[in-house]
Amino acid sequence: MDLSIDNHIDNHIRRAKQIEQGSLLVISGPSGVGKGTLVKQVLPQMENLTLSVSMTTRSPRPGEVHGENYFFVSEEEFLSLKAENAFLEAAVYNGNHYGTPKPFVLEQMQAGHDVILEIDVQGAAQVRANFDYKTIQIFVLPPSHAELKARLENRRTETVEIIDQRLARVAKEVAELPIYDYYIINDSLERACDDLKAIIRAERLRVRAQAPLPETR
Ligand code: 5GP
Repeated sequence: MDLSIDNHIDNHIRRAKQIEQGSLLVISGPSGVGKGTLVKQVLPQMENLTLSVSMTTRSPRPGEVHGENYFFVSEEEFLSLKAENAFLEAAVYNGNHYGTPKPFVLEQMQAGHDVILEIDVQGAAQVRANFDYKTIQIFVLPPSHAELKARLENRRTETVEIIDQRLARVAKEVAELPIYDYYIINDSLERACDDLKAIIRAERLRVRAQAPLPETR
């Protein structure tokens, strides 16, 4: 038996089993498509998976909890954090600022957790441009435009005017689909959850070189 070959194989197995740094999963798609519900359902079903809680200047909707749904902050506070480069990405959506606090994401990834960002297409584009580290970009599509409109209306959390503003963005958002890695059609929640879990599992089995977490540019 050639011991050097044994050692060689065992080294590869050891390396493959090592818990490495986590990945960054970006989940994007039109408002009302069900990104939040999908993510909430999958989070407790998978180990080593964390959701990044965004910061926003939007007012809380009834039932939304500070630190759980969002960190709700003033525009002044948001802009001062932005000036300090505290966000991994930040965008304006319908007149409100939204951003991903950077330290939490990097800490979680360094601890070996995969982190989910549930953000709009502008934020996803920024992550793609500025964060060259294992980002997995997933786009959630509605079954149809009519279904998306019905979901936004049934949510009863926005005025008709805001719903119209959100719907007006959809065509432009969906046009970005080809630059994503994966898509999920959210027709049945159960199937969409299975799809998301399958994507995460496949990505965790991907062979790749170990590289240190980069600094954002
Ligand atoms: P909503 O006001 O409905 O909670 O969110 C409006 C849009 O902003 C949604 O598409 C949501 O995914 C997105 N969003 C939430 N947090 C962030 C964030 O931190 N960054 C960016 N770019 N978009 C976000």
